[in-house]
Amino acid sequence: MRPRVLVAADPRLPRDAPAGTAAVVVGGGIAGMSAAVVLAERGVEVTLLEAADTLGGRLGAWPHTLPDGTEQVVEHGFHAFFRHYYTWRAILRRADPALSFLRPVGGYPVLSRHWPPEDLTGLPGAPPLNLLALFARSPSLGLGDLTRSDRGLAAQLLAYDPERTPAAFDDVPAAEFLRELGMSDRAQAMLFEAFARSFFARPGDLSAAELIAMFHYYFLGNPEGIGFDAPDTDHRTAIWEPLAAHLEKHGGEIRTGSHVRTITPVDGHFWQVEIDAAPSVRTRHLVLATDPGALKALLAASPDAAPAAPLLARKAAAIAVAPPFAVTRLWLDRDVAPERPTFSAVSREPTLDSITVYSRLERPSAEWAARTGGSVVELHSYACDAPDADTATARMRAELAALWPETTAAQVVHLQQRMEATAPTWPPGSAGTRPRVSGEARGIRVAGDHVDTPFLTGLMERAAVTGVLAANDVLAEVGAGPEEIRGIPQRGLLAGLRRRR
Ligand SMILES: Cc1cc2nc3c(=O)[nH]c(=O)nc-3n(C[C@H](O)[C@H](O)[C@H](O)COP(=O)(O)OP(=O)(O)OC[C@H]3O[C@@H](n4cnc5c(N)ncnc54)[C@H](O)[C@@H]3O)c2cc1C
Repeated sequence: MRPRVLVAADPRLPRDAPAGTAAVVVGGGIAGMSAAVVLAERGVEVTLLEAADTLGGRLGAWPHTLPDGTEQVVEHGFHAFFRHYYTWRAILRRADPALSFLRPVGGYPVLSRHWPPEDLTGLPGAPPLNLLALFARSPSLGLGDLTRSDRGLAAQLLAYDPERTPAAFDDVPAAEFLRELGMSDRAQAMLFEAFARSFFARPGDLSAAELIAMFHYYFLGNPEGIGFDAPDTDHRTAIWEPLAAHLEKHGGEIRTGSHVRTITPVDGHFWQVEIDAAPSVRTRHLVLATDPGALKALLAASPDAAPAAPLLARKAAAIAVAPPFAVTRLWLDRDVAPERPTFSAVSREPTLDSITVYSRLERPSAEWAARTGGSVVELHSYACDAPDADTATARMRAELAALWPETTAAQVVHLQQRMEATAPTWPPGSAGTRPRVSGEARGIRVAGDHVDTPFLTGLMERAAVTGVLAANDVLAEVGAGPEEIRGIPQRGLLAGLRRRR
């Protein structure tokens, strides 16, 4: 399997936008930065408005002083940089052409109190071999799961189709889909629930179509295999400072601390962008690259936008946000056991969904651990029902201690915790309800990991792809050629063979 060109560059069109083309991008996360970088490289005068004091959104990072005086950059949480994130990696190459800051993370075990760990690393990169290898290797899956009839799990997963899969399964909750296929409780827990929760959803609240699509995107259809990399230092140093420098080198202006309050159509072809405590800006090309809840809030606060952009306003009003996620970073007075993997997914704990040993992942944490004899461990809960961050931390610590008993006696030297609801959600019945990048409001493009794409993407890559698609739409309007976009094969191996359901 090889990556596919999903949007081809067009050498017949000029590369650069006509002089004087200007655009405003709202939101300085992956989506906004990807749009801004491509536009600025093509000669567009870009103004990037970010509400926070730091760039990066959910991948952001900020300085923090530990009680012992050590300066550390703390980030929003561990992120897996999958190798088929072709667009995001292409943007990151602007910061580091060799991507030398990315290092393989190693194994990808799923842990549970009830069953032995499952390791998904090292599976082949092509279907059906990857699926056969999974069934052969995984103690959770039996041969019966593989061979069961046309409605069997393997057949459904291998038959992913961008039209037929949503038509057949969008209304079905992922949990019900897995149960109806007769899958064992252990296979549901160890292979699919942990996977579903990494999309910030409880399996009962995720559409089965989305589960099948993401299983195709991350595993069955992924030419690079399921392994992933992570930065060897903090996200500010590795990503945001170099990308900001690149954008500024191409004439882009970055304004952090600039919360956009309202947008208003003016003079037929322009949008007036009101910013808290700063003069407003006016633009013909507006890219809204915020998180989903912020897009909903911005459109709701902009009463004049709805008559000019009714479809976008309607879709924005219907946006649902995922349950809160919690991230707690612990600086412990001792190391965890030597055999503990750098990253582990966790299944069937009420709160804890993943554990990252940061002191084995990135330099600044490793240096602190080496100096103090301690360790830095980060705990994630992706769909958290604790009432607040303190409770989430207490629950995650207790669940960690049950899985890794050596942490029970560890003293917490310092902690950072956060709980917020800014992730998108893919509930049953939601296909077709999300905003698209373009075509829903004159002059406005929408980007972000909650936005509908014409091809399969996920999480960080969806954010980058929608940013580049937004830039491409601006470039198309002014007569310049698109940026190439590559992706994975968009259909499962059996999709062509299946009869219409
Ligand atoms: C704990 C955690 C772990 C994750 N792990 C992974 C992983 O392993 N792999 C993966 O691929 N993805 C992962 N993700 C998801 C990934 O972080 C997101 O998909 C991605 O960062 C989304 O980028 P974005 O640009 O769409 O949105 P955001 O990062 O949310 O950026 C939106 C920006 O818009 C700004 N903004 C909002 N409103 C306004 C306004 N009115 N005016 C100005 N600015 C505004 C916000 O401040 C923010 O900076 C994880 C997310 C979390 C939270």
